[in-house]
Amino acid sequence: MKFAVLTIFPELFVPFWEHGIIRRAVEGNKISASTVNIRDFATDRHHSTDDSPYGGGCGMVMNAPPLAAAIRAVRSAMPGSRTILTTPQGRVFTQDIARELAESEGLIFVCGRYEGIDERICQDFTDDEISIGDYVMTGGELAAMVVIDAVTRLIPGVLGGEDSAQKDSFSQGLLEHAHYTRPRVFEGCEVPEVLLSGHHKEIEKWRLESSLIRTFLKRRDLLKNTALNTQETEILKKWCLDIENILRAQSLSGPDPLSGKQ
Ligand code: SAH
Repeated sequence: MKFAVLTIFPELFVPFWEHGIIRRAVEGNKISASTVNIRDFATDRHHSTDDSPYGGGCGMVMNAPPLAAAIRAVRSAMPGSRTILTTPQGRVFTQDIARELAESEGLIFVCGRYEGIDERICQDFTDDEISIGDYVMTGGELAAMVVIDAVTRLIPGVLGGEDSAQKDSFSQGLLEHAHYTRPRVFEGCEVPEVLLSGHHKEIEKWRLESSLIRTFLKRRDLLKNTALNTQETEILKKWCLDIENILRAQSLSGPDPLSGKQ
């Protein structure tokens, strides 16, 4: 997968390309990374990349000519790539979109600054618009990094374990189970016994229950939108029965003397 980022602050990407999994992916030729300075495509004396808005008002707008020249140059060097505009007005980034983008041959990111970029670039020079959430940042660089990071870890061979990315939160519609590592007891809190048992099937069952309970407590909306399999529905039914039994036991033990209710 080839990544190119068009920005007026290319230096922001130096530490990004040079650390952790992204660095390993570059070194292992799983991804190629290039950062393009939009200013290099500005032809006026001051190499300007922005101008005041037509119609007046505050703020500056990134002007079309340098952006158009930069996008054309990068597109011709990366045929078959998708050009993505980072904007708070785009479709909101999700794991599904990360999976979709991971299928591309190459991704070119356009990072806006100021009030954003000239509308004619949005219309004619980009294939997609992506937002990383309903808030406004000062530039598209962090958005490009977020998308590149999430897409890179889905590229086969980038993460250690073969199925690492498949088990992550959102991949199967649920949040991932809890994780523990040494020490076995930390400030009086023990690792769940089953994880030390070596019993693979029991561990898988515990992890599925952990995944379901976390999703239920933290993101109930995900559960409603996921087609659960038989094992998962069985677990939910068991919890349902457990809760009913608790409630029944409560009502059998009579009215709560403190509540004053009959
Ligand atoms: N005036 C614009 C916001 C401009 S913010 C508006 O109200 O829609 C400046 C730049 O930051 C944008 O061009 C975009 O590249 C980037 N940006 C800001 N928030 C973003 C977000 N949530 N997702 C992706 N990019 C964002």
